[in-house]
Amino acid sequence: ATQSFVALIIGVTGIVGNGLAETLSLRDTPGGPWKVYGVARRPQPSWNMDNPIHYIQCDVSNQNDVELKLSPLYDVTHIFYVSWANMPTETQNREVNSAMLRNVLRTLIRNAPNLQHVSLQTGTKHYVGSFADFGKIKAIESPFTEDSPRLDAQVFYYQQEDILLEEVGKKKGMTWFVTRPHVIFGFSPYSMMNLIGTLCVYAAICKHEGLPLKFPGSKATWECYSPASDSNLIVDQHIWGAVNPTVKNQAFNCSNGDVYKWKHLWKVLADKFGIEDYEFDEEGPELRLTEMMKDKGGVWEEIVKKNGLLHTKLEEVGDWWFADFMLRVEGVLDSMNKAKEHGFLGFRNSKNSFINWIDKTKAYKIVP
Ligand code: NDP
Repeated sequence: ATQSFVALIIGVTGIVGNGLAETLSLRDTPGGPWKVYGVARRPQPSWNMDNPIHYIQCDVSNQNDVELKLSPLYDVTHIFYVSWANMPTETQNREVNSAMLRNVLRTLIRNAPNLQHVSLQTGTKHYVGSFADFGKIKAIESPFTEDSPRLDAQVFYYQQEDILLEEVGKKKGMTWFVTRPHVIFGFSPYSMMNLIGTLCVYAAICKHEGLPLKFPGSKATWECYSPASDSNLIVDQHIWGAVNPTVKNQAFNCSNGDVYKWKHLWKVLADKFGIEDYEFDEEGPELRLTEMMKDKGGVWEEIVKKNGLLHTKLEEVGDWWFADFMLRVEGVLDSMNKAKEHGFLGFRNSKNSFINWIDKTKAYKIVP
């Protein structure tokens, strides 16, 4: 097969990066099979090794490391940027995430003569503000459309988009694409925000300790409609953006196209872990996983050992702060009209997506 398309995935072990690596190497993927380079800092984990990719350990926040490891990749045609740094403040988020993206773009634009396209993943915080600001500033009114004005607040995505346009603009004919997913349903034990993996670990701990699966969120979130973005749907949109000339140089929302209620998914989660008691606790105080799970490191070690799971540390697979955040978000919807009007008709059944990713998390022995 001829491999005219050569991808560089920044964040190849992440919740979308891992799926991109899998899909791009397939023969029937548009433009495929792609030759794929994948970048992350840690060594390649076992669950990423089935993908026929060239794995490169590189810290993209370090300019010297980027020059050393990525400047030899002269045959790259497309960059898929699915990585980020989670810093204590949004000012630091802006600085570090800007530097990371700029390091990659500058080095590749200088060294890869056939580079033609960069696909950047941001997200719904574009419309609601940073984690620190959410709920404190006036967000765009939901459902969000891509043409909404920027918030009068610091969101690191804005700088990333500016850098993307600035750097891509330096090379004639180069194009860009931005995808803005909502909360991602997917698989990656290395992700900084893996909601399903986190909930699976919580459920496994409840089961092990014989505790009820209490909902660690708000009553409003338990009851209201919520959206999600299946990571493979996002993969499809990245690729759609890369191979369709008519949708280049634009941003698109990316979510499943349906809504669900947490009270319904909670039953699914409980069933998957064989827990009978899973109701919303009306009586007790509001629960936070950051509090409930803080001393469970030893329990997790026990569970891993007893069930012969892949060795992981609790703090790697339990993104408690993220679940505490997401399970308190109410009525934040995005519109998929623009994507559909431009021909992206992909969708997912969110409940089935939830089930599939739980099954994958079990199949790869991250949870029992
Ligand atoms: P993940 O946290 O799932 O993955 C991050 C990837 O980047 C990993 O492969 C990680 O591996 C790698 N990485 C992190 N830092 C570096 C670095 N300095 N150098 C090289 N590689 C690095 O990413 P997401 O897909 O979640 O995030 C991508 C974007 O999507 C972000 O802007 C995020 O805000 C957005 N988003 C995410 C959502 C979610 O639910 N996860 C929801 C909506 C938007 P390693 O640590 O080994 O380097």
